[in-house]
Order: sequence, then C-alpha cells, then structure tokens
Amino acid sequence: MKPYCRDTWVEVNLDAISANVRTFRAHTPKQTGIMAVVKADGYGHGSVQVAREAIAAGADTLGVAMLDEAIVLRKAGITEPVLVLGYTPLDSVEKAHRWDVELTAYQADWIREADRLLLQSENPAKPLGIHLKADTGMGRIGVREIPELLEVTEALAAAKRLAWTGIFTHFACADEPDTSHVKAQHERFQEMLAALREIGYQLPLVHCCNSAAAIVFPEWGYDTIRLGISLYGLYPSPYLKERQDIQLVPALSLKTRIAHVKTAAEPFTVSYGATYTAQPGEQVATLPIGYADGFSRAFSNRGIVLHNGMRAPVVGRVCMDQTMVRIDQGNARVGDEVVLYGKQGTEEFSLDEAAAILGTINYEVPCMLNARVPRIYLRNYECVEICQGIVKG
Ligand SMILES: *Cc1c(COP(=O)(O)O)cnc(C)c1O
Repeated sequence: MKPYCRDTWVEVNLDAISANVRTFRAHTPKQTGIMAVVKADGYGHGSVQVAREAIAAGADTLGVAMLDEAIVLRKAGITEPVLVLGYTPLDSVEKAHRWDVELTAYQADWIREADRLLLQSENPAKPLGIHLKADTGMGRIGVREIPELLEVTEALAAAKRLAWTGIFTHFACADEPDTSHVKAQHERFQEMLAALREIGYQLPLVHCCNSAAAIVFPEWGYDTIRLGISLYGLYPSPYLKERQDIQLVPALSLKTRIAHVKTAAEPFTVSYGATYTAQPGEQVATLPIGYADGFSRAFSNRGIVLHNGMRAPVVGRVCMDQTMVRIDQGNARVGDEVVLYGKQGTEEFSLDEAAAILGTINYEVPCMLNARVPRIYLRNYECVEICQGIVKG
C-alpha cells in the first residue's frame, strides 16, 4: 500500500539525474570533479536520493547551503565530502566538525575563533576542512581584495584544528549572452590564485563553475564544477536552453488526479473572488493541489496543466488545497491523471514555462513544492522509493 493518502505527487526520474551527471562528465575536462549541489532539499527533488544517484553516476562531492542540510545527508549514511557553501555561525562549528562537514570561510576573525573553539573541544583526530571564498564580483560573501585574501589565508594556515581544503568563487552572470562580467570575474579569480601561488602556497581544491559556467566554459573546471540546476535537467537560463550546448533531461514531474468534474448547464463562477465564470457547456475539473503544496497562487487564471495529452487552463483562483481547470475536450473524468509539470503524451508543460508565467526563474518552481507532496522515485520507469514528508514514523 502506498504510504500517503492523496492523489497528488512528484515523480523524480533518477535516470535523468544520472544521465545529466554523465553528460557533464563528458563535457568537462577529465581531471575535473563534479560536486552535486543538493541544497534546498535537492532543489525540491529530495537531497538524499539525488545525492546517492549523482554519486553513483560519477559525482564525487556534495554541496549544500547550510549545515543542517549537510547533516541530513550524513544521517542518511552518505560519507562523501560535503561542503557548506554559505555562512556558518561560529556556534555550529563544532557540530560541523563532529559530522565531518567542510565549511566555507572568508573572515580572519571567524577562522581564528573557529580554531579556538575546536582546540577547546575534546581532541578530535581530523581537522575541520575549510574552503576559502573569494568574491570576484558576485557581491555576496567572500574576500574581495588581495591583501584581505592573504590575511585570511594566513589565519587559516596558522590554525591548528582547521585544514585548508579548497578555494572558490561564484559567478553572477554566467548564464547570459554578454560574457564580459563572467570573464572579468574569472580573471580576478586567476589573479587571486596567482597571488597565493607567488607566496608559495600549495593550492587546495580550486573551483568556480556553477551549471552555467560549466556549460559555457568547461575549460574553467579546475578541480571541480559545482553542478546545481542542470543536475536536475534544467538549463540555467532561457538563453542557455536555446543555445543547446548540452542535452539535459528534466528529472521532475508533478502529477495529480481529478477530484471532481462538472459541466455548466447555467453559467457558474469558479473559486474565491468569483474571478471566472464557466459558460454553459464548459467542463470544469477540480484538482487536489493548491498553493499550500507550493503550486503558486500566481497561477490563478494563468496556469496550464495537461489532461489527455492536451493543455487545459487554470480557471479562477488557486486555493490553498484545490485548483480548478477547464477541460475543453469535455472528456474529463474523476480519477484522470493530470500533469502539472512535465510531459503527457506528446505535450509538455515545462518548469521553464511555469517560471515564465510566474515571473520567476525555473530554479524557484520545484523549490516551492513542499513536504505535503509525496516524492516518488523512478528508475527504469519503476518506482524504487516513496518519500512522504508529513506523516512521521
Ligand atoms: C547554488 C550554488 C551553486 C549551483 O548553482 P547552479 O546555478 O544551480 O548550478 C554553485 N555554487 C554556489 C556557491 C551556489 O550557491
């Protein structure tokens, strides 16, 4: 029996994840590793399942945004190196060490204090791995100037309980037609690396490419790329999708089943605010999904779903738990499968199209899908795992 009680679910095609990893393996230099970025619960796909699949397909390390996400991976028994890409508060440094999770650092004071905290704790065998972050033009976190970089590196070299295991930067505009900004960032990164080498530092793991940069500048792979959005089969921007430098396979579909069908005899209004009026003869189907699942209310009177391989528009406002659609073929029946994101027959409604309607980027669309929606994992079109998030135990 399935361990959840609703007719709305996400399907994650694990074969797509592994195909995308292999595609980047072939696209980047041989010596370049792949860090599978599985932050935000694997961009909504499920971090543990995606991490395992990516590792099996050839990724060698994992990246997350925060320590809690790393601990989820460790608790699932994943032993590959995990790097926290964002800021970690000092009071969590010991925990990172205990779970063998590498951290990102860019402030000399933070490094000195982290080292002091670890020196005080019971004497662990292995030092905590630290990747230094260089801000070469993202303006988010990282050291910006070379003297600052040297100071931070010195603090790290002097630390007894910290090991310098990586140095990286992050690009702001790698997905755009104009490459001037990303090229300036890469040049700045090279200057920083050169300044460190000049002093005699042996550089640890060097990395700078997100998905977009890995697609456009695979020769900048250094020791690893950090593969996020394209691991999931999505292009980092409509521009890169159009360019088709690389063939990706989207991993996620969102599906539901019709809960109710009615055909208007007289005009009737649909949903809160009565913003849509069904005309006589129109068929309206009710879907058991709403904005509390992460199916945005901004789809009200604008969204598209697939039924019987045809497009059907969302009518009226998306409710918290239910959404109405108009079925122009008039052939809807209770229990029919409806695809909200993905393919049905020869028709497709992609996360890219959904993002365009919502006025956002494809990254945000699967991230919105929350624990109320069960995840079903497929390999070779067969269900291999079901993960439902709200009924514990
Ligand atoms: C999220 C993130 C990535 C992955 O970026 P994509 O565009 O999804 O490939 C890489 N590096 C850092 C620092 C990130 O925060």
